[in-house]
Amino acid sequence: MLGREDLERREEEMLAPYAVKSAHTGGRKYPEDEAPFRLAFQRDRDRIVHSTAFRRLEYKTQVFVNHEGDHFRTRLTHTLEVAQIARTIARSLRLNEDLTEAIALAHDLGHPPFGHAGERAMNEMMQPYGGFEHNQQSLRVIEVLEERFPEFPGLNLTWETRDGLKKHQPRFLPSNTHSPAIEVAPSLEAQITDYADEIAYNNHDIDDGLTSQMIEIDSLREVPLWEEHFLAIQCRFGQAPRKIQWRQTVRAIINSLVTDLCMETFRRLESACLTKPEDVRHARQPLVRFSQVMEQKNGELKLFLLEHLYRHYRVIRMAEKARRIIHDLFKAYAESPRQMPPSFAIRIAAEGMPRVVCDYVAGMTDRFALEEHRKLFDPHARV
Ligand code: MG
Repeated sequence: MLGREDLERREEEMLAPYAVKSAHTGGRKYPEDEAPFRLAFQRDRDRIVHSTAFRRLEYKTQVFVNHEGDHFRTRLTHTLEVAQIARTIARSLRLNEDLTEAIALAHDLGHPPFGHAGERAMNEMMQPYGGFEHNQQSLRVIEVLEERFPEFPGLNLTWETRDGLKKHQPRFLPSNTHSPAIEVAPSLEAQITDYADEIAYNNHDIDDGLTSQMIEIDSLREVPLWEEHFLAIQCRFGQAPRKIQWRQTVRAIINSLVTDLCMETFRRLESACLTKPEDVRHARQPLVRFSQVMEQKNGELKLFLLEHLYRHYRVIRMAEKARRIIHDLFKAYAESPRQMPPSFAIRIAAEGMPRVVCDYVAGMTDRFALEEHRKLFDPHARV
């Protein structure tokens, strides 16, 4: 039987010298005894999976609003795809898989309802009060908003998992009285999760775009990354139905992107001569990257999605509806905060009304927001 200390030793032996090790974690904000059979980041992952915010991901949108169809990605299935891709990369580069998985599973916990349209609408409403950004909200969810433990707010995750969620925010190593705080790069585990996020959403958005018929295979063929993989699949499976061909193409593209990312990143890690995780934080060159050729091809694919899917008139219609709903809800609660449940209303004195309304609306699933809008604005609906 393996106890935590055995597992920690195994990490020391198996992982790369620059991988984060659970035995050397910066720890939790509220000190706790660590679990006897689980590593610190495994425990973080388990806490994330058991959180309320994680379960809500099932009813939050990626691009397609939940009731548009049962087979489109939701934020939950997106999150699982990101975690799976990120773990593949972490394992192959001998990085910490548990930490990578914890960051991946938590990375969208702060996403408001209705995908990017919802986020834009939240940011508009919060402009005078510091704005809204879903990465910051993910941190707020795990540090403040989850209510699970009697001794502390949030999930009390390790420093490394929290640090891994700080996208687009300055980050510093845990304070050391001898040296001034200097801004550092993210851990490799956080950097690869970022790329896994991008690989996952570009490819599943193509898949969902084709399923919804908002994008056509013929127009996709102008994208070099698509075309080269599609031709290879047609060569091998020319007799297969179109749907199978396109799914095989998406599969092959994900494989190429992941392989390229691993190879290029490994090359960079080798030439940077890193001997410990701190070297990653102070590295002068970016370490996790696609090769130049792949970077270019991936960029073309993103541009195609922007022009053909994210600006499709049906996506714009979903976005505009989302915007109206978020604005209405926000204004209704701001006008009369006591329409919110007491557990939220009670926090207004300490945190101010706008931030509490923001937390309440950001936590909603798509269907809850729609139903709540109906209850508040339809005179015939029961409250
Ligand atoms: Mg994401």
